[in-house]
Amino acid sequence: MKPAPFEVCHPDVLRNATEMLETGGQGAKLISGGQSLGPMMNLRLARPSQLVDVSRLAELQRVDERSGSVLFGAATTHAEIEDGKTPDPIAGMMRQVARGIAYRVVRNKGTIGGSVAHADPAADWISALTVADAKIHIAGKRSNRTMAMHDFVLGAYTTDLRTDEIIIKIEVPKYSKNVRWGYYKICRKVGEFADAIGATIVDPERRYCRVVAGAVGGKPLILAETARQLAQLAAMPAGETIHDEIAASATGLDAASRHQLATAVGRAITEAVGL
Ligand SMILES: Cc1cc2nc3c(=O)[nH]c(=O)nc-3n(C[C@H](O)[C@H](O)[C@H](O)COP(=O)(O)OP(=O)(O)OC[C@H]3O[C@@H](n4cnc5c(N)ncnc54)[C@H](O)[C@@H]3O)c2cc1C
Repeated sequence: MKPAPFEVCHPDVLRNATEMLETGGQGAKLISGGQSLGPMMNLRLARPSQLVDVSRLAELQRVDERSGSVLFGAATTHAEIEDGKTPDPIAGMMRQVARGIAYRVVRNKGTIGGSVAHADPAADWISALTVADAKIHIAGKRSNRTMAMHDFVLGAYTTDLRTDEIIIKIEVPKYSKNVRWGYYKICRKVGEFADAIGATIVDPERRYCRVVAGAVGGKPLILAETARQLAQLAAMPAGETIHDEIAASATGLDAASRHQLATAVGRAITEAVGL
């Protein structure tokens, strides 16, 4: 199928983009890499009459390194991260996550900001940026705001973003040189969306330990008890702890999916701390 008729505009500065969104009203929609929105338009699941292309905005392309974090412009592509053209604040984790997304043609166009805004529960950045405690920087016509990634995603394909707002940056904390991480994606074929994701970051120097189960059909689960045991005992948490925490939070999942998730989480922990 072909998309319903639409126009595309290419604002040259951020302020023009927010104005175009406002004047376009319900018919206006942002586009960045088009790798999620394009297929939806072709299937006529989305029928915007005006696309506001933000992929060439300088503010969204820049990557800034600060003392404690890296700010990725929302239009940074998966391929730029994969190729190491951006700093990696988690000692190689971002490169590995990017490398596992789809295949190269998709990674050349698809952006980190588009992925976060789309909030597909099986998408890689949704889980990876949750385990990293990233912050989302948002610009609106009247004000700017920042939110924790975990609060930003409300559920499957649902975020806190208002229709007149634009994600401009994704801020990822810089972890210490001794950080350990694991990212384990279960999917049928390499490059497909995940059936289950386990993600772990352990950084004793920063007193940080987080364990996440992703691709759960909604927002990723932060497994606090599993992380507490991992941090305190420096040992693999009991298998029941992981299973029980997943079962308590992901009530809509069948036993096989819960088992897959617990497996992914266990393997991510093993990758991170080599237990
Ligand atoms: C065949 C295929 C396989 C894929 N496999 C995977 C996979 O394994 N893992 C994975 O994680 N992803 C996968 N993807 C999705 C891919 O990563 C997309 O690139 C990503 O989800 C969307 O990024 P985009 O820049 O293309 O966004 P677009 O398609 O341009 O936009 C997506 C949504 O985000 C909004 N948006 C875009 N930019 C902004 C912004 N700056 N601020 C606010 N809203 C914005 C748009 O309005 C739209 O609603 C796959 C895609 C394809 C086509």
